[in-house]
Amino acid sequence: MGAAAQPLTGAPAAEALLEEAARRAAALPAAPHLALVRVGDDPASVAYVRGKAKKATQVGLSSQVHALPEATAQAEVLALLAALNADPAVSGILVQLPLPAHLNPETILTAVDPRKDVDGLHPVSTGRLWTAQAGLRPCTPAGVMALLAFYGVPVAGRRAVIVGRSALVGRPLAALLLNADVTVTLAHSRTPDLGAVTREADLLVVAVGRAHLVTPEMVKPGATVIDVGINRVPTEDGKGRLTGDVHPAVAEVAGALTPVPGGVGPMTVAQLLMNTVLAAETQRQEAAGE
Ligand code: NDP
Repeated sequence: MGAAAQPLTGAPAAEALLEEAARRAAALPAAPHLALVRVGDDPASVAYVRGKAKKATQVGLSSQVHALPEATAQAEVLALLAALNADPAVSGILVQLPLPAHLNPETILTAVDPRKDVDGLHPVSTGRLWTAQAGLRPCTPAGVMALLAFYGVPVAGRRAVIVGRSALVGRPLAALLLNADVTVTLAHSRTPDLGAVTREADLLVVAVGRAHLVTPEMVKPGATVIDVGINRVPTEDGKGRLTGDVHPAVAEVAGALTPVPGGVGPMTVAQLLMNTVLAAETQRQEAAGE
């Protein structure tokens, strides 16, 4: 058995990001405002939105939750977004996913003004990311980059493998790493011999949603492993607990490893608030004709 991997804990890195967001928010003439749009009463979404609003207040941002009933017609959601887009007091708009099945997430996400797209999921934001232009970046992948920077993990010139190619995590993270001079491989459910691919990685990021998919023999000794996955697994007391996509025994092989929970998770919300500040800064510069 090797030595235990360095734990890349999210809390201090998220704290640093939140402090920077608070400092930059305080330097603006008005507190940046985050509009949180939620449709329906999915308990996880209710909790996530409440958590985001609470953290926003902590860093000196203002926020408002726009809670719409489950049955809200798409036209009504689009009308709310149009009003928020037009309101100069609103810096950022976040539409909480998943949306009820009768709503088209592509249509709704595309209706957000790209300048207020703090989730970074608008096609304009995606285009800017892949062409390495300035813009708002998706929160979880940008949070992973902030975590790596906080712990001084070198990335340029290294070989990264990302398992998972979702629009939310894998794809935008590939672009962010590419922009940081990393050699990137994206693996997915159709990748044959996944272990042979992941063993090539100096930096292995797993964003799949399958508990303990990555086992020690799939990891290069000394690699940095980022576990984005959040899975609820059953426990004897019936409450269940959260675990990642990476098997805990990987800690004996990896050089550094993020815990789940408490690794990437806190970075996502911190990055959302940072994005709201970045959006407010850009809007202010535009209004001043800079
Ligand atoms: P998706 O379900 O959208 O994507 C999962 C990806 O994993 C797909 O690309 C899929 O491949 C791939 N995949 C599935 N099974 C396998 C397999 N056996 N081998 C290799 N690849 C596989 O998930 P998300 O990207 O939205 O989320 C991934 C995980 O990250 C989830 O656990 C989610 O809860 C968590 N998450 C955590 C966040 C945080 O803040 N920490 C934020 C966002 C997500 P294919 O494309 O071929 O289907």
